[in-house]
Amino acid sequence: MTFSVPRYLVPFHPKRVPHFFVDVLIVGGGIAGLRAGIAVDPRLSVLIVTKDRLQQSNSHYAQGGIAGVLDPADRFEDHVRDTLATGVALCRRDVVEMVVREAPERICELIEWGTEFDQEEGNLQLGREGGHSHQRIVHALGDATGKEMMRAVIQRIRGRPNTLIWENTFTLDLLTEDGACRGALVWNHHHGKTLIWAKQTVLATGGAGQVYRETTNPDVATGDGHAMAYRAGLALADMEFMQFHPTVLYIAGSSRSLITEAIRGEGARLVDATGCRFMEQHDERLELAPRDVVSRAIVSRMEETRQPCVYLDLGHLEAGTVRKRFPGIARLCEKFGIDIATDRIPVRPGAHYLIGGVRVDSDGRTELPGLWAAGEVTSSGLHGANRLASNSLLEGLVYGAHAGRRASEQAVQQPDSFRAPALRNPVVPSHDEPLDLDDIRNSLKSLMWRAAGVRRDGRRLAAAAESIDHWCQYVLQRQFADPHGWELQNMLTVARVMIAAALAREETRGVHMRSDFPAADDAGWQRHTAFSRAAQGACVSEA
Ligand SMILES: Cc1cc2nc3c(=O)[nH]c(=O)nc-3n(C[C@H](O)[C@H](O)[C@H](O)COP(=O)(O)OP(=O)(O)OC[C@H]3O[C@@H](n4cnc5c(N)ncnc54)[C@H](O)[C@@H]3O)c2cc1C
Repeated sequence: MTFSVPRYLVPFHPKRVPHFFVDVLIVGGGIAGLRAGIAVDPRLSVLIVTKDRLQQSNSHYAQGGIAGVLDPADRFEDHVRDTLATGVALCRRDVVEMVVREAPERICELIEWGTEFDQEEGNLQLGREGGHSHQRIVHALGDATGKEMMRAVIQRIRGRPNTLIWENTFTLDLLTEDGACRGALVWNHHHGKTLIWAKQTVLATGGAGQVYRETTNPDVATGDGHAMAYRAGLALADMEFMQFHPTVLYIAGSSRSLITEAIRGEGARLVDATGCRFMEQHDERLELAPRDVVSRAIVSRMEETRQPCVYLDLGHLEAGTVRKRFPGIARLCEKFGIDIATDRIPVRPGAHYLIGGVRVDSDGRTELPGLWAAGEVTSSGLHGANRLASNSLLEGLVYGAHAGRRASEQAVQQPDSFRAPALRNPVVPSHDEPLDLDDIRNSLKSLMWRAAGVRRDGRRLAAAAESIDHWCQYVLQRQFADPHGWELQNMLTVARVMIAAALAREETRGVHMRSDFPAADDAGWQRHTAFSRAAQGACVSEA
């Protein structure tokens, strides 16, 4: 691969920037980062950095809920089995067992901290989603679980006197010296570039849905953590596995909001532009087939009818019930003149959850000493080749707790040192001509959608690799002064690794569908992909 990445995004000189010293630095304030913060010993100082307001994260927008065995009639073995089956032979069984068994404890502590999950006659109301064999999903405010959970967790973290939160602060890069992580370089409007020196650092920057034109993810999900880990020399594993959500609202000018699976659970039908119901041609479970099956069926139908979307039709259901059951979606669609009870809702698939990321062990330890990671930025072995619905908030909670605790235990043993190491930053300042960043960003997102979307093939992936390599040549070597440029550099880096991984995996497994290799290849591909930046900045495969 001709793609090469500089070590740091920007030049910096330790004599010309402010310094800040902290025991534990946490990059990211979604559920994984905040849970990590709560796990740190109160005697230690903690700094949590988020690039937007705390409320802007995938965690905040989560709808369906959190999976856990809470009903006496349910069994850990069944949650484990469902997770392994969905992951198509790529999950790590020990990790699945650990996460599933810890789920009730993590959910109960959320309740203790004030999360009000929906109840029914005094008991938790447990929902069921695709792939689960039992009712085991706790949810809140109907379809706004993330908002309620994050409200309680944010309140909890704000009550901790040892913890500082810097919002609207962009982390550019992890700082490394002598083979260990020493903290991070951050930037905000108040003090520009700042070197944060930390005894231990936790990476919890979430996903990368924004790399695609169609996505359920908010603007913050540009894969920054994946890219900064990659620049710091860490391998990114299983980056070909991007889960697409089949039904994302498709109205020009609206945000790409997710239309919950529950709406299909209530009987909504998928129809094409002519009103023809098409799922029966693809799967006997019809609209309730697994997400990857529904996504592929929708894309096929869009191609056959040459239409940009298909539709969810609830016209055969009782209008009052529909509006009452889905008030959020009803309000959203109403803004665009659509009555969900009588009009069809235009939808198409969108990038939803990135399974691949930084490899961690069960404590959240990465391969770089001093760096821990948790949540969507990681590849923990929980999801394998496909994610079971509502297992990702759970993963963030479990790994956040582990990574925070372990980082804390290490930091407690380290003496204070207020000396800034003399880091080597080979990036020299340069003054480049301005670029039309929006144009490249939009081109990248469209390209990823076409070449590395729901269906891939070697020819289109190879052509996409060439285009991205070309953009990388003149974008990655430049220096930008604000997050707009840095995000683009991160998106290009992450997209390029995703394409490399998708090209490498010559089979169809889980969410990765290659039309030129339509079957699973158990003999050759029951293994993981991993790509890292080698000494010259070039990308190498470790698979
Ligand atoms: C619409 C939607 C619905 C979902 N529904 C569910 C569900 O019902 N159940 C479920 O289990 N999962 C669901 N998911 C997935 C789940 O929400 C995420 O996987 C999970 O919340 C990820 O948590 P996280 O803490 O790893 O990352 P996030 O919650 O995304 O947090 C990332 C944090 O990192 C910060 N950050 C990123 N880059 C930088 C940077 N450069 N500098 C500083 N800070 C940075 C962000 O500001 C943010 O604070 C859903 C996702 C979406 C988008």
